[in-house]
Amino acid sequence: MAGVIRRLDETVVNRIAAGEVIQRPANAIKEMLENCLDAKSTNIQVAVKEGGLKLIQIQDNGTGIRKDDMDIVCERFTTSKLQTFEDLSGISTYGFRGEALASISHVAHVTITTKTADAKCAYRATYCDGKLKTQPKPCAGNQGTQIIVEDLFYNVSTRRKALKSPSEEYSRIVEVVSRYAIHNSGKSLSVKKQGETMADVRTLPNASILDNIRAVFGNAVSRELLEVGCEDQKLTFKLKGYISNANYSVKKCILILFINHRLVESNALKKAVETVYAAYLPKNTHPFLYLSLEIAPHNIDVNVHPTKHEVHFLHEDCIIESVQKHIESKLLGSNSSRTYFTQTLLPRPSVSSDAKPSTSSTAESSERTYAHQMVRTDCRAQKLDAFLLPKEKPASAGQATVEPVSRPQPPTQDTHEMDDADMLEALEEQETSDPSEVRPGTSSDTLDDYSRKRPRVVQKEKQEDLTAAATPRRRVIKLTSVRELRDEITERAHTGLQEMLQNLSFVGCVNPQWTLIQHHTKLYLLNTTKLSQELFYQILIYDFGNFGVLRLSTPAPLYELAMLALDSEESGWSEDDGPKEGLAQYIVDFLKKKTEMLEDYFSFEIDEEGNLTGLPLLLDKYTPTMEGLPMFVLRLATEVNWDDEKEFFRDFSRECSQFYSIRKQYILEPEPEEEEQDTELNSWRWKVEHIIFKAFRSLFSPPKHFSEDGCVLQIANLPDLYKVFERC
Ligand code: ADP
Ligand code: MG
Repeated sequence: MAGVIRRLDETVVNRIAAGEVIQRPANAIKEMLENCLDAKSTNIQVAVKEGGLKLIQIQDNGTGIRKDDMDIVCERFTTSKLQTFEDLSGISTYGFRGEALASISHVAHVTITTKTADAKCAYRATYCDGKLKTQPKPCAGNQGTQIIVEDLFYNVSTRRKALKSPSEEYSRIVEVVSRYAIHNSGKSLSVKKQGETMADVRTLPNASILDNIRAVFGNAVSRELLEVGCEDQKLTFKLKGYISNANYSVKKCILILFINHRLVESNALKKAVETVYAAYLPKNTHPFLYLSLEIAPHNIDVNVHPTKHEVHFLHEDCIIESVQKHIESKLLGSNSSRTYFTQTLLPRPSVSSDAKPSTSSTAESSERTYAHQMVRTDCRAQKLDAFLLPKEKPASAGQATVEPVSRPQPPTQDTHEMDDADMLEALEEQETSDPSEVRPGTSSDTLDDYSRKRPRVVQKEKQEDLTAAATPRRRVIKLTSVRELRDEITERAHTGLQEMLQNLSFVGCVNPQWTLIQHHTKLYLLNTTKLSQELFYQILIYDFGNFGVLRLSTPAPLYELAMLALDSEESGWSEDDGPKEGLAQYIVDFLKKKTEMLEDYFSFEIDEEGNLTGLPLLLDKYTPTMEGLPMFVLRLATEVNWDDEKEFFRDFSRECSQFYSIRKQYILEPEPEEEEQDTELNSWRWKVEHIIFKAFRSLFSPPKHFSEDGCVLQIANLPDLYKVFERC
């Protein structure tokens, strides 16, 4: 007997259609992220519960939704981005179909809280099956939109059953968010599990694309990247991106592809680039690529089904071929030595406090600057150096007073002799260069584990299977002690100081210890030594277990370093301490026992003969002055608590950061000769301005005590100076 054909109930139809648009939490998040970006948000925070199945919360600081539009936003085919069919060809926003929110509301409970700039307060409404469930009610809220999606697929039991593993869903979510985070440099995106304090991915508003890649994928990838970029007038496309060089490979190709700022997939393009790399990489290994293509909108078929991530565009073959050629030329033209300089600064998961997502926008609107408060500042303006140093012979005065011969010479190379070539050598392939290597057992690692050598390889295979879907390939450190140390940094952070360091104008170095900066109308003296020490401490804690290596071109015998230190006055050695030789030998033996752990966590390398061979690479292009090395080695043995895990990490990082900080000794280094670019890079002035202060901008959470202990001193307020002049 034939079944009776009945028209399906409309809500059922909608639900089926919605299930096709939104197949899993990560799809929903992608759509909502794009909405946030369409709404010009600069800060987007994602928090989820149970892999997004229980809860997805997305908060942005964008334009918000007008109250009058709130009743229809979740209806199908409602959009603020498109009016006529012709508009489709010139579309530059992500969304245009007005389908995403509608679909989500058919398969989940949706709550929207939103405030536009000119609304007096925020409004909150809930939605079900594309319709308003409760009317918009006034409430408190910052400008922007918060969308909460609860119990995804509560009414589609088959789909819910198909999504068995929240952790699998979560790693897809992290993948989507981190890719958008990389692409949207200049904006801050984060994703975390609801209730956790640490975000799993967080990018900072001042970070570059390269910083972002590093934050997500780690140092090992980011320092092996080549910048690519080309344009083709005829084919009307533009390419930008970063691709791994021939030194680098992964087990699975990672191609992060954005076309017109939308994350897409293109198997054709992937195949094409893999062919190019096949000639350069070992068999069965693959490249990492981040590519951003902009194609004239009328050449793209944007009206594809939302779940079809695979895109097609006009002149596809020609464009792909052109991209292929460009990549080939970059790979050919790069020798590995160049690549070092493309590496970048550090990732910082959660230093900036996430308590106030919209500080910048509110600050802009509420803090009006009047003409009399304005002071001319121009980053191209002359710096202090121009006045202090005679052009012909820079800083010869500094050198004359100090007798370079009298300095204790560590048996290593001097910093200034450690030129680019050495640095390159220093950065040769490291053990951890495979970013997919999430090491086993990190969650339970303790110092003691290092003495019991565990069967690492076996465990590694297992671990990789489990984490195959997770994007962040940075080695994940789950040690509670490290997390606690990170939290300490976050808790101490002073947002005012942070804002100042992000926006200051660099005036000049007074000496290695003090730097003059301007912020708004005020002049400040900053204690570079203290600030840089704290910076390196934070890098050590945040990048823990993920450092590159600065390999010493000549291994430095620990014994001699220890002897040098004991000979110096600073060590305070007295005869009661026993013979120096015995102490020095003790230090060597002691540190040698800790080699494996020091190398693994801190890239502090000691060879079998007891020579120091490598130090952690904390900031790109930065080498500490080797002057401090002997004391550093001595203090490692005398000032560090090696028995308690957390205390040890803290003490080690403190000692190490002291060694790396910009200190008085830098003045002993010869100033660069004129027109010698390479030595210029090694001058402390250059390091302070272009490395340390740059890092302050994006990687640093200054602690509160700096505002009280004289490390940051206000020395003048320009409007006050004007008043003085007026009286004259
Ligand atoms: P589309 O993005 O295709 O227009 P959506 O269903 O994704 O359709 O969104 C519907 C409308 O809701 C958008 O056109 C926009 O006006 C509004 N909207 C959604 N999310 C946001 C947001 N985060 N900020 C501001 N407006 C939003
Ligand atoms: Mg949309």
